[in-house]
Amino acid sequence: MDNPEIRQPGYAGLREDLWQPFQDWCRERGLETVSHIHEQILMSSGYGEIRQLPAAYVLKAMNAGNIGPYVEMTGKMVIPEGTQSLVQRLSEKARQVRLCQRVEDCRLLPGSGVRLITQQESAEYDRVIFTAGLEQLCGMEAVPEELKEIFSHIRYQQYAVYLFWTSQLPPTDGYLMENLVPGRQGHVMKWVCHKGEKGGGVVAVYVSPRAEEPPRQRLERIREDLKKVGMSVDGLAAWRTWRHFPHVDGDLLRRGCYRVIQENQGRHGLYYGGEFLNGADVESCIAWSRELSEVYF
Ligand SMILES: Cc1cc2nc3c(=O)[nH]c(=O)nc-3n(C[C@H](O)[C@H](O)[C@H](O)COP(=O)(O)OP(=O)(O)OC[C@H]3O[C@@H](n4cnc5c(N)ncnc54)[C@H](O)[C@@H]3O)c2cc1C
Repeated sequence: MDNPEIRQPGYAGLREDLWQPFQDWCRERGLETVSHIHEQILMSSGYGEIRQLPAAYVLKAMNAGNIGPYVEMTGKMVIPEGTQSLVQRLSEKARQVRLCQRVEDCRLLPGSGVRLITQQESAEYDRVIFTAGLEQLCGMEAVPEELKEIFSHIRYQQYAVYLFWTSQLPPTDGYLMENLVPGRQGHVMKWVCHKGEKGGGVVAVYVSPRAEEPPRQRLERIREDLKKVGMSVDGLAAWRTWRHFPHVDGDLLRRGCYRVIQENQGRHGLYYGGEFLNGADVESCIAWSRELSEVYF
């Protein structure tokens, strides 16, 4: 797997053979066994069935830095003060952090700069970095048409997390390997334990939900899966389905969509970041933010 560029931020500089489906890429190199390991790890992390995904996405997600913690279930990071502490840290550095405002439009100002419009107010900026759900930019006036065309093709996987109270926390986190193969949507893929007091706590259970399945039915199957592995859980504390892993298909990659995005970085003072640009994990997002700030700011 001699692709050192896979560790560089972004997809624009990758070789063309990485745009083919992962399954074909592995077969050509006699790496079918390796592909099963990739499949299990990425399925459990909400990437869906990866065989038809462009190899670039799979290999980037599995770069050396990411693989260890998934396999060994180590490196769990907890933020004891809560995620709001991250915002607090940000507000110490940045001027006037605005929360709970959804950007609905971005319009060019005469000369230079842009106006961002939310439901509550509007404000002018010299430069803006978009990181959230880039498909939203398709409706924004200032965004170049060729980028809107690309962003309109972004697709996601559904990834659901269920939190159960339990008085008997399992001894370790774990995977249900029999469900980490194609065709097992809706079944428990992995669980992660969060210790509470007196031996109990909360178990987080991860599932790729079946489309359109009623929530009760979904929950029943999850409870059955947990029962089969002898896990005893009490009430459902919370659940949520997330959109995960924004990506496009191999055709668009072959047509150079990431190169086009790069060519447009900075045009009208607009920049593009977030998980679509470098991979759907926190470290990859940070790496891309670093790259953006070093190259353009
Ligand atoms: C269930 C689940 C588990 C995961 N586990 C891990 C893990 O263990 N390790 C790991 O590294 N990664 C994990 N990931 C992936 C990781 O969370 C994402 O890749 C990463 O958070 C993406 O960062 P981002 O900045 O691109 O987007 P986000 O983190 O989604 O941030 C975007 C922000 O923009 C806001 N926003 C959206 N639209 C607008 C708008 N129009 N105007 C203003 N604000 C807007 C959103 O509310 C959000 O706060 C997980 C993802 C999921 C769904």
